[in-house]
Amino acid sequence: MQTIAERLKSAHARIENATASAHRPPNSVKLLAVSKTKPVSDIRQAYDAGQRLFGENYVQEGVEKINELKELEGVEWHLIGPLQSNKTRVVAEHFDWVQSVDREKIARRLHDQRPDDLPPLNVCIQVNIDDEASKSGIPASELPALVESVSQMDRLVLRGLMAIPRADATTEQQHQTLSQLQELFSQYHTKLTNFDTLSVGMSGDAEAAIENGSTMVRIGSAIFGARE
Ligand SMILES: *Cc1c(COP(=O)(O)O)cnc(C)c1O
Repeated sequence: MQTIAERLKSAHARIENATASAHRPPNSVKLLAVSKTKPVSDIRQAYDAGQRLFGENYVQEGVEKINELKELEGVEWHLIGPLQSNKTRVVAEHFDWVQSVDREKIARRLHDQRPDDLPPLNVCIQVNIDDEASKSGIPASELPALVESVSQMDRLVLRGLMAIPRADATTEQQHQTLSQLQELFSQYHTKLTNFDTLSVGMSGDAEAAIENGSTMVRIGSAIFGARE
């Protein structure tokens, strides 16, 4: 059995190799450790091994962990799961990032509810890049309007885009999806200050995502082991 520290090391090696193969600058891809369903003891182990960015999918579980791990300095908490409007307040009060913003109403509530004594909340807009009915995120066609409104909200910082490409794609489909996403990202990256994050790539497709411009891979099972 490998330890969490060893698996983290392998994840960093994968990122470094993929970044080098893609002729991208070293350290241009961040690692978000996805700790959903895993106990706080696992998060502590990852923290002790140097990990600082953690992703949670479920609001209640995430908030409990954030409260339990308050003493860990320098941790950045990212919400990456779907967010309903009745949960925005507790999210605005606890998380550092919300990557799953998919409508103006949610953005507006996060903006209004972000406490004054905290820095603005970092957000990404989730794009349903493969137009899958089962998936959250907005279609690419609705992106310009949402970017426009979110970028006016001064208690939010629009950091970029997040997507979950379909897992069953052929290599060719996968490449097409990822390059479409990269193109959407570049359009705004050149226009908007702070729009520096393309969050795409998981345990199974991190290399392909990095080849197509990902700046943040979200890795869960390859670090913490399979989930129940
Ligand atoms: C669970 C999850 C991940 C991590 O998936 P792994 O395959 O375990 O690496 C990444 N992003 C999102 C949105 C997830 O829900």
